[in-house]
Amino acid sequence: MKRGRFLIMATKIILPEAELPTKWYNIVPDLPSPPPAFLHPGTHEPVGPDDLAPLFPMDLILQEVSQDRFLDIPDEVLEIYRMWRPSPLYRAHGLERMIGGPARIYYKYEGVSPVGSHKPNTAVAQAFYNAKAGVKKLSTETGAGQWGSALAFACAMFGMECEVYQVRASYDQKPYRKAIIESYGGVIYPSPSTNTQYGRKVLEEDPDTPGSLGIAISEAVEVAATNEDVKYSLGSVLNHVLMHQTIIGEEALKQMAMVEETPDVIIGCIGGGSNFSGLVFPFIREKLAGKMEPVIRAVEPAAAPSLTKGSYQYDFGDTAGMTPLVKMHTLGHPFVPEPIHAGGLRYHGMAPLVSHLRQLDLIEAVALNQTETFTKAIEFARVEGIIPGPEPTHAVAEAMNEAERAKESGEEKVILFNLCGHGHFDMGAYQAFLGGELEDYEHPEERIQQAMARVPVVAG
Ligand SMILES: *Cc1c(COP(=O)(O)O)cnc(C)c1O
Repeated sequence: MKRGRFLIMATKIILPEAELPTKWYNIVPDLPSPPPAFLHPGTHEPVGPDDLAPLFPMDLILQEVSQDRFLDIPDEVLEIYRMWRPSPLYRAHGLERMIGGPARIYYKYEGVSPVGSHKPNTAVAQAFYNAKAGVKKLSTETGAGQWGSALAFACAMFGMECEVYQVRASYDQKPYRKAIIESYGGVIYPSPSTNTQYGRKVLEEDPDTPGSLGIAISEAVEVAATNEDVKYSLGSVLNHVLMHQTIIGEEALKQMAMVEETPDVIIGCIGGGSNFSGLVFPFIREKLAGKMEPVIRAVEPAAAPSLTKGSYQYDFGDTAGMTPLVKMHTLGHPFVPEPIHAGGLRYHGMAPLVSHLRQLDLIEAVALNQTETFTKAIEFARVEGIIPGPEPTHAVAEAMNEAERAKESGEEKVILFNLCGHGHFDMGAYQAFLGGELEDYEHPEERIQQAMARVPVVAG
C-alpha cells in the first residue's frame, strides 16, 4: 500500500504521454435505449446523412450517427493533442484544508490548452476532418468566445480560414477574444450582424438585442448553407462533439486509477453539454458495467436552466429554425437568456444525448446563481491558485457544496469535477464581481413560457 499512500498525497497527477488515450468513446451503443432521431425542420421526417451534407463533411456525419463504441483518433489529431495532453488531474489539497471535512476532491484541468479551455479537443478534430474533405473555410458561432478562439486555433493548425459570429453581449464584454481570433487569422463579427439575411431581420426588429447563441448559430449556418466552399462547425451539443471530448474522461479514468481512487460524485458545468459529457461518459460506461457507482451531476446557471426547468421535447437548435429538430430539454428556441458572465452557458437547449441521459435518470442536474458561483470561485482561487473561467465556477461551487455536505454528514466522499477552463480572458466578470456589480436574475418563467409557445408541436 506504500505506493498507493504516496500517490494519494500527490497534488498533480500526470499521465505519461505514452498513456495518452488513442480512441474516443461513443456512449450511444451502451445506452439502455437509443436517443431519439433528429428530424428535418420542414418535413419532420428523420434526418439522413444527405440532409446534413451541406453543413458537415461526411466523416463527421458518420460519427454523428455511429454505433461503434470506440473510434480511433487520427494521428494528425493526436499530434496536436500532444501539445497540451494528457492534461493534469489535481488533488485539491488547499480546498480540502479550507473546507476541513472528510471529502477528497479532484479536478481535471483543461485550462492548459493553447486557448485555455476544453474546446480544442473537438475543434482540432473537426478542422482535421474538414481539411481532409478539402473544405477551405469554417463558419461558426461563439458565446463567450472560447469556441471561436478554439476553432480559429484549430483552423490555423490546418491552414484553413475561419469566420466567427460572436453573441453581441459577449463581444462587448470580452474584447480580447477578438484579438485572439484575429491573431490566429480568423475573422469575427458581433451577432446579430448585417452579413446575413437572418441577422438583418433580427436587427430590424430589435436593434439593441444582446444577441444569443441561437441567433449566432442561425447566422453561421446561413453562411455555410449559402456558400459552396464553407462548412459549419459547432462547438457543443452534437453527438460527435461530445464524443471528441471523451478524451478528458478517458484520461481521468486512468489518473484516478493511478492514485487508486474511485469517484463517488462527478460534477461538470453545462451549457450545451460537451465538457460535462467529455468527463462523465467514460465513467458512465464503467458505471453501466457495474465497476463503480458514482452520482453524476450537471450544473447549469439559474438564468438559463434548460435541464432543471426546461421541457423535454423537439425544438430547433437555433433561433431562426434552420437546424434539424432535436429532442432535448429546452427553454424554447426564441428564448434569449440574460447576459450572465458565463457566456458559454447562455443557451436555450441542451445536448440531446445529455437530455436523454437525464431522462434515463443516469445523471442529476442542479442550477446555481452567478453570485454564489463567483463567491466560491474566488475562495477556490485563493487556495488552489487557478482562477476558473466563468462557466466552470458553476462546477467549482457545486463541488464545494458537495464537500460541505460531506462534512456535515461525516461521509468520506471522493469528488471529481471538471475545471474546463481558466478565467484569464474573462477578468471583466471578476472585476464586476469584486466591484459588487454582479447581479442574479430571477427564474425567467414568463419569458420561457412565451418562448415555449413558439416551439413547433412534433409527435414523439
Ligand atoms: C463553451 C464552454 C462551456 C459550455 O459549453 P459545454 O459544451 O457545456 O461544455 C463551458 N466552459 C467553458 C470553459 C467553455 O469554453
